[in-house]
Amino acid sequence: MSEQIGTALRWGRDRISACSETARLDAELLLAFCLDKPRSYIYGRPEQELSESCWQKYQELVQKRLEPTPIAYLLGRREFYSMEFAATPAALVPRPETELLVELALEQIPIEATCRVCDLGTGSGIIAITLKKQRPLTSVYATDVDPDCLVLARANAVRHGAEIEFIESDWYQQLPRGMVFDLIVSNPPYIAANHPFLAQGDLPAEPELALTPGTTGLEALEQIVSHARDYLVSGGYLIVEHGYDQQATVADLLKAHGFGEIRCVTDYNGLPRTSLAKLVENLNSGA
Ligand code: GLN
Repeated sequence: MSEQIGTALRWGRDRISACSETARLDAELLLAFCLDKPRSYIYGRPEQELSESCWQKYQELVQKRLEPTPIAYLLGRREFYSMEFAATPAALVPRPETELLVELALEQIPIEATCRVCDLGTGSGIIAITLKKQRPLTSVYATDVDPDCLVLARANAVRHGAEIEFIESDWYQQLPRGMVFDLIVSNPPYIAANHPFLAQGDLPAEPELALTPGTTGLEALEQIVSHARDYLVSGGYLIVEHGYDQQATVADLLKAHGFGEIRCVTDYNGLPRTSLAKLVENLNSGA
């Protein structure tokens, strides 16, 4: 038995509402995906019959959505900074708040001069690729400890024709000796391992490695901040995304490791989300 577009949408919305606050939108995206049409196609055609195979495929996707599987993984794509990226369960689903980090980074990268940037823990590559597309003269390096992320990030770089040097590395560990940057950026895992938030929404479907660094939630930020000065030029910048309640701790860490001019920006919910700092004192130089 097949269905019409209108009834299929209502059927999907009613089910998906058990796990998503955007059930209607999710149902529309999944149905449009099964029809291989833009979402606008399904408006104004509520009585159009779906083919049997389309209806079957749609039912399967709705079922997967309930597990829950994020829409981005089901569609295999997600938009970030007005560009479309491949999305797979290897990496975190791109978040709109990470666009703030990109904005802050772009303020620091000259348009008409060369600059070296490193994105630590690149995941699907969205930050590195966006920066390269916006500032083509920049040499962009991107690391990840997970080879599956690097496969995905490389595919995204190819998709956007962005030339990026990918390095499999646990934060700085496998970076070539003597490599220094003008800017280091990172959206690391920062949720404490026992935090109830990890069990909410779609988070259980995302890679734990990308969400939580350990019991305090600060382990990755500590690694990144405490070694940054070994990989930054004097006067270079570090920009990190962090938890809404980690701003003060991150600022203290930054100060303790030679950074000044610390600035934090709030996300779309008004929460402190991304901090930028300048390396004012390179403790290693000449030492
Ligand atoms: N901001 C993300 C969330 O709230 C977490 C991202 C991260 O840990 N880097 O789900």
